[in-house]
Amino acid sequence: MPAPTFPGTCNFCGETFTTRTIKRHLTRCAKRQEAEAKSARSKKAKNLPLYQLQVEGLGFFGKYWLSIELPADATLRNLDQFLRDIWLECCGHLSAFEIADQRYSVSPMNDPFFGMKELGMAVKLRDVVKPGAKFDYEYDFGTTSELKLKVVSEREGPRANRAVQVLARNTPPEIQCEVCQQAPVTEICAECIYGGPENPALFCEACAEEHEHEDMFLPLVNSPRTGLCGYTG
Ligand SMILES: [Zn+2]
Ligand SMILES: [Zn+2]
Ligand SMILES: [Zn+2]
Ligand SMILES: [Zn+2]
Repeated sequence: MPAPTFPGTCNFCGETFTTRTIKRHLTRCAKRQEAEAKSARSKKAKNLPLYQLQVEGLGFFGKYWLSIELPADATLRNLDQFLRDIWLECCGHLSAFEIADQRYSVSPMNDPFFGMKELGMAVKLRDVVKPGAKFDYEYDFGTTSELKLKVVSEREGPRANRAVQVLARNTPPEIQCEVCQQAPVTEICAECIYGGPENPALFCEACAEEHEHEDMFLPLVNSPRTGLCGYTG
């Protein structure tokens, strides 16, 4: 069975593609080429090696994805901060990357007895991943949000600043109410979300009013952390 694909929008031209077609589009988008030419003319622009990354949630959260570009000598900490800002941060949880069996954590733990030897995140991307490399990320080791990342390609390009650039992002998915199956979800019950399929936790506006845990509602947001912990976007 082919992997499912999910729609998203190119940040430059505003057109819709899928997880399958976006990579190719980004190499030929005319509006992106215009933006590149413009940033090349900026006085502050310098040619930098750049990595394009594809970032995706897992399982149910696979509908949430990002195509981003950042300097290859940005650190894992820079990438961690970006992921927190755009998608994940709720209450300052721990996080870690896992690259080729090595963990890089915001708070490295070393326990020789258990053979645990984590490194910190002050590591440049180019020193730990090359184009084609796949790696994993976890935010919050309790109610964990897991992401998978891939280095899609490397190129040299003009950049006036070192910020992470969002190239494309998933379209906010329409999720149907688990009670009436007829209207889009607007609220998630943080009490019932862990209860299994017989326990509805995703509600439309009308059905939410009938539900008993009104003070536990979280809004549906365009992030793989929607409905988890206290995440409100
Ligand atoms: Zn485009
Ligand atoms: Zn939290
Ligand atoms: Zn409903
Ligand atoms: Zn509930």
